[in-house]
Amino acid sequence: MKILVLNSGSSSLKYQLIDMNNQNVIAKGLCERIGLSDSILNYDNKKEKKVTKIAMPNHEVAIKLVLDMLLDKEIGVIASLDEVSAVGHRVLHGGSKFSKSVIVNDSVIEAITECIELGPLHNPANLSGILACQSLMPNTPMVAVFDTAFHQTMNESTYLYAIPYELSEKYSIRKYGFHGTSHKYVANRAADILNRDIEDLKIITCHLGNGASLCAVKNGKAIDTSMGFTPLAGLVMGTRCGDVDPAIIDYIMNKEKLSIKEVNTLLNKKCGILGVSGISSDFRDIEAVKDTNKRAKLALDMFVLSVRKFIGSYIVEMGGVDVIVFTAGCGENDSYIRRSITNGLEFLGIKIDEHKNDTHGIEIDISSPDATVRTLVVPTNEELAIAIETKNLVDNKRTADR
Ligand code: ADP
Repeated sequence: MKILVLNSGSSSLKYQLIDMNNQNVIAKGLCERIGLSDSILNYDNKKEKKVTKIAMPNHEVAIKLVLDMLLDKEIGVIASLDEVSAVGHRVLHGGSKFSKSVIVNDSVIEAITECIELGPLHNPANLSGILACQSLMPNTPMVAVFDTAFHQTMNESTYLYAIPYELSEKYSIRKYGFHGTSHKYVANRAADILNRDIEDLKIITCHLGNGASLCAVKNGKAIDTSMGFTPLAGLVMGTRCGDVDPAIIDYIMNKEKLSIKEVNTLLNKKCGILGVSGISSDFRDIEAVKDTNKRAKLALDMFVLSVRKFIGSYIVEMGGVDVIVFTAGCGENDSYIRRSITNGLEFLGIKIDEHKNDTHGIEIDISSPDATVRTLVVPTNEELAIAIETKNLVDNKRTADR
């Protein structure tokens, strides 16, 4: 069974064709600058790579070009679109409507449309990817996999903000959480690696990329997560501020004469590691100068402290922890950050082995033999996670239809 996974951004489209018999990627690539001039189609069939400059005025054209490439006589990997059993679409926001992935039908499309208000930057692109695919592959099942779905198991006392209850209800203002596909995937991988039932585990998953979030997973269910109504909340991130006193916003707007839009851009794009260091949003750049640049060191210290504070609160919320999982660009690769986050937590049973920690981008248990909490590095694979969800749903439907 071959599954096509699509991740549509506002001006981009990432794609992977995955063979589910062995979970191997058959072909993958990226369409850039969709809707702008000079669009670019990148294609990689694992043997050769091709970059084509070709006009892509919208997502439908981009998807058509991707399908043509997959079917190409010379560098394609399939002979007919019938070989694609289903398409899995990443969708950012499922609001409170979706607690799991679903096969797309008219009411799902309507619900994703209603969630545009909550995810104005991503949901329109996700939706146009689904609609384009439906018109190009009308007989192929489409599955929507939501970034928010895994976090829907949080309690009301966890997901609500202490604002008037009527406002929360009227405008669906609550914590949704994001990176759900990644948190779910690495939590399940961790249980598999340790040969334990996820139902018996208390896991803290740390997705530390440019965007970063933590999730407390108790008995296989998300009970809390650090991002909120939007991905701006929680940890200090590459360019996002994370949790701040909300009164700062009005104060900065008055002092700097900024509009709401401008202050929003500031909080999302000019804060975090970039804003504090004044150097870069990339951890590698900051770490390279941390011994000589005070603000670089300060930015790293603030990031590490924000992660440690959430770990502490999740240990309290879950009544303990069995496993801590590091994932995403920084979590998978950055031994300095992993060491700094876990440093001095032996009193909680958390202790890493320096030698094992000195590895990058591989699945590994980095715990010290005498630690009672396992600390793992698990590379995330959101595309594979989407493909697995898609396959399971399509298989179940086929069985039910029989
Ligand atoms: P996103 O998907 O949110 O853009 P990624 O998961 O790709 O983020 O992570 C990107 C971040 O990972 C970069 O900002 C970089 O700081 C960090 N990163 C990637 N590789 C390394 C590395 N080898 N060492 C330290 N940090 C790394």
